[in-house]
Amino acid sequence: MKAAVLYELNQPVVVEDIDMEGPKEGEVVVKVAATGVCHSCHHVVTGNIRYPLPVVLGDEGAGVVEEVGPGVTLVKPGDHVILSWVPSCGHCVYCTQGYPNLCLKARNSAPGRLFDGTTRFTKNGRPIHHFAWVASFAEYSVIPQESAIPIDKEIPLDKAALVGCSVTTGVCAVINTAQVRPGSSVVVFGAGGIGLNVIQGAVIAGAERIIAVDLLDTKLEMARQFGATHTINASEIEPIEVIQSLTDGLGADYAFEAIGTRVTFEQAVRAIRNRGKAIWIGVAPREPLAMEAGALGGEKMVMTSAYGSARPRVDMPRLLALYRAGVLKLDELITRTYQLEEVNDAFDHMLNGEVARGLIRF
Ligand SMILES: [Zn+2]
Ligand SMILES: [Zn+2]
Repeated sequence: MKAAVLYELNQPVVVEDIDMEGPKEGEVVVKVAATGVCHSCHHVVTGNIRYPLPVVLGDEGAGVVEEVGPGVTLVKPGDHVILSWVPSCGHCVYCTQGYPNLCLKARNSAPGRLFDGTTRFTKNGRPIHHFAWVASFAEYSVIPQESAIPIDKEIPLDKAALVGCSVTTGVCAVINTAQVRPGSSVVVFGAGGIGLNVIQGAVIAGAERIIAVDLLDTKLEMARQFGATHTINASEIEPIEVIQSLTDGLGADYAFEAIGTRVTFEQAVRAIRNRGKAIWIGVAPREPLAMEAGALGGEKMVMTSAYGSARPRVDMPRLLALYRAGVLKLDELITRTYQLEEVNDAFDHMLNGEVARGLIRF
């Protein structure tokens, strides 16, 4: 079967035929219908996220269950599923407290391998790793049954795929992590795949003012389409002063960082008012911050958000219900579709801001 494999850092991803073993205990084979092209995968390409190589990338997918291994009870062949990159165990300390996004079993497991410590992908006998449990840049993937989130068969799978990562990460960071209140002011640093979903989450939460900050006018135009009330091009103007002037000189109630740079992590803190919340969603930069502790004076709060504090089995079907109700935009996120062979082009278009979301269809 065909898959997109990263062999070496900062090299193009190789699309080729690889071998796949059938499912073992508790595992499921999914025929992937579509997969979004996410920045996390590109972080693996650059080494910003350290991951064992070679690896089948892809962390945002949906498909149909093709086969189940022994002991599988959560899904059956024919089920339509979103692939969750946290296979929550349901009984660790975090799962039982309602934070399955922080599941200890998933986090303590060796990266790139399934729960038994091995991979199902090989090429000429050499193991190939699975990215983030999902490995959806492939015609088929083997995942733990806990990563298969059943959804209504009426939802188009190409739209559902986006809920596997960017939509959940962005919308649920607003609704679950920050718990944005109606009438509040929200700033979003970065109007890419995550940032646009923060914006539509803020619309759903009833934010009065939604200020998008980016360096590219093309992305700021998309931000307005998704509900930003104000946009700031930070390559032309210092954003913090503008944010102050748009929020009665106080700063915003909430600032979401959706890029993953030191500068924007710090700007998110400087953008909030007293008692405000800065929510860091982007992959943490590998350099120390240059903030003084006093920057948090006035009871400011900083939170990180992992997978939007989502409970995938609850929140993913809920997001699809919002889509069906016309409240959540999914169709509009997909600005370009690709064949798997075009995956490197898809990365380029994501990096230069041409697309809200690129989607690979099988
Ligand atoms: Zn992702
Ligand atoms: Zn758990």
